Amino acid sequence: MKLIVTGGAGFIGSALIRYIIENTNDSVVNIDKLTYAGNLESLIEVVDSDKYLFERVDICDAEELKRIFKQQQPDAIMHLAAESHVDRSIDSSSDFINTNIVGTHHLLEVANAYWMSLPPEKKNNFRFHHISTDEVFGDLGDSPGFFTEKSSYAPSSPYSATKAASDHLVRAWHRTYGLPILITNCSNNYGPYHFPEKLIPLVILNALEGKKLPVYGDGSQIRDWLYVEDHARALYTVITTGKVGETYNIGGHNEKTNLEVLKCICSLLEKFAPNKPENVGHYEDLITFVDDRPGHDVRYAIDAGKIEKELGWTPIESFESGLKKTIEWYITNPQWWKRVLDGSYSRERLGNTNSQHMDQKLKKITEGTKRVL
Ligand code: NAD
Repeated sequence: MKLIVTGGAGFIGSALIRYIIENTNDSVVNIDKLTYAGNLESLIEVVDSDKYLFERVDICDAEELKRIFKQQQPDAIMHLAAESHVDRSIDSSSDFINTNIVGTHHLLEVANAYWMSLPPEKKNNFRFHHISTDEVFGDLGDSPGFFTEKSSYAPSSPYSATKAASDHLVRAWHRTYGLPILITNCSNNYGPYHFPEKLIPLVILNALEGKKLPVYGDGSQIRDWLYVEDHARALYTVITTGKVGETYNIGGHNEKTNLEVLKCICSLLEKFAPNKPENVGHYEDLITFVDDRPGHDVRYAIDAGKIEKELGWTPIESFESGLKKTIEWYITNPQWWKRVLDGSYSRERLGNTNSQHMDQKLKKITEGTKRVL
């Protein structure tokens, strides 16, 4: 099977591509604009594979999307490209509207026209898999319940509102035109190659450098955490065995308050990074409470019973085992996050600096290797 993956240079998209290339016979065409969140160095493990092709394209560019569909003749598309950071959406929402809503619309139009033109067998097997978030359901507040596939939509932030809009568009293209779609709504992910502005990598890296560990409000907000490699396996399970038109919730059964997450990271760091910066007695002393984010949801929690019962997927990692792997990865891969934090990766991508310290492999991927599959 040949898959188009959008947003494949992002955190989850790169985990998905690594999973597919390393565990299946399928090939992948990665369409990514390379915004600040896209990082081709997260794909270093697969870049030499004959089954992998990169196209630096904006999903808002319908002509380029048409060209890629025509040239590549994909069997399915997995759509992850998005603006994904809630704080950024509060500061400025236009990129969120453009990519998450307008971009998804372009992709639906191009995929639908392509699908309609296919011969019967290929048409029958084609899938459009839209990857979304549990944040579309809004806030569970004090309720002890869980989000199910039937929960109503009540997004709180500009980010989640644009994701909700894109979910509605995808369902409408199924209902109106018959496009064979699948939707997944997933809880918070964490793991290797996570951009350091997100909570877990931010806390790990700040702690290693002896910087403050910010926690919004009193840290009592609850999130349901899923290890990114469990998510990648779930997505592949859905695209290969999910029922057309259905939605599947994906979650890790790991509800934690943000404060619990910080304390868990600090306690693991005491073990894995005992040589602390001079100003640090205990990592936990670095925890600092900051003003809460506006409209901050209190609790998200996923009921993942449907994907477990119907498709046989369950997460492998517990929060503790996944967090241990994540911390070990950040400790042993400083070259990845240091180049993100000091901006050298972005500058090289834009061609503004020399690339003396890059080895041949990094040079090749940052230039965006194109190969015919
Ligand atoms: P990310 O921000 O790490 O990556 C997004 C990728 O999309 C980047 O590589 C970026 O360059 C690319 N992109 C952005 N705009 C683009 C455009 N106009 N055209 C082409 N590419 C573009 O995001 P992520 O955390 O990997 O999330 C991937 C998807 O999963 C998103 O749709 C997100 O809503 C969803 N999701 C994320 C989480 C989470 O915890 N991170 C949880 C549930 C669902």
